[in-house]
Amino acid sequence: MVLRGQGSGCSSSRAVAGPSRISSGPRRLSARNAVSAPRPELPIINFNFADEIDENTRQSLSSAQREGFKADFARELKTISAWARQHWFPLRRFALQVFVSGTYKISKALVPAWSGQRGRMEFPAWRLNAGNPAIMHELTHVFFPNGNRFLAEGFAVHLQAAIGGNPAFPNFGRPLHASARERLTQMLPGFADGANASLAPLHLGDLDSIATPSPLVLAIGSDSYGEDANGQACIYPIAGSFVEFLIASRGMTKFCTLYRRTPLRQHQLAAGLVQRWSEVYGSSLGELEMEWRSFIVNGSQS
Ligand SMILES: [Zn+2]
Repeated sequence: MVLRGQGSGCSSSRAVAGPSRISSGPRRLSARNAVSAPRPELPIINFNFADEIDENTRQSLSSAQREGFKADFARELKTISAWARQHWFPLRRFALQVFVSGTYKISKALVPAWSGQRGRMEFPAWRLNAGNPAIMHELTHVFFPNGNRFLAEGFAVHLQAAIGGNPAFPNFGRPLHASARERLTQMLPGFADGANASLAPLHLGDLDSIATPSPLVLAIGSDSYGEDANGQACIYPIAGSFVEFLIASRGMTKFCTLYRRTPLRQHQLAAGLVQRWSEVYGSSLGELEMEWRSFIVNGSQS
């Protein structure tokens, strides 16, 4: 099964300015000029490297590592900009404030956006040392944030895996579905036998009810997976796999429609109503989850 989005994307309804916009105002523009107008420049980036010693490696970043990270970041920014033009819409021009510190435990961009600091990005120095900073994941949060944490993280994990230039949390270069399959085997021992029924204790609706900035947490039977490192390492591949499945099986346009139903609003909790799934897809989340489960049980090794 091909597992890359084949949809025509969201850009079709926004790619060309409507006639009323083109002809209004004192400076009339021809349709030709409107369509071929220069694209906005890439965002301004300010890098801030703290001098603390990395708690994991006991080293500070070398100037070569800093310059390498800057180059990697610029490359990822170009990649997501090109992807956005093709599938979504041109990126808004945020000033990106990129902080790298040995004191950070995890990468962040979505929670700062929710709290009014959209464009602020934090990366732990040890991730740079290890060669796996989640640059594409965090850029996705800046440019395509969401009020539904499950969709926000699933989409960020998917884009990091699909177009990111380096391996990163949570799958570190492994195919997302294979990574989700491995985690489900750990979480549900019966799943190791490939029985679809063994996935019954998993309810994606529980994840779908979580609003940004609350962390993704999941209860499976008597086990709970939470904000700790192991919990997130289990949940994130599942979120990424489900989003990748949705885009591959239903297309990017429908996913964009669903995604836009739960925009991120500063300081507000809004995960969205469960009926939006049926309204967009013609199938409930439960029905889509059953389809995804069958794919995970029977699907390819990708
Ligand atoms: Zn994230």
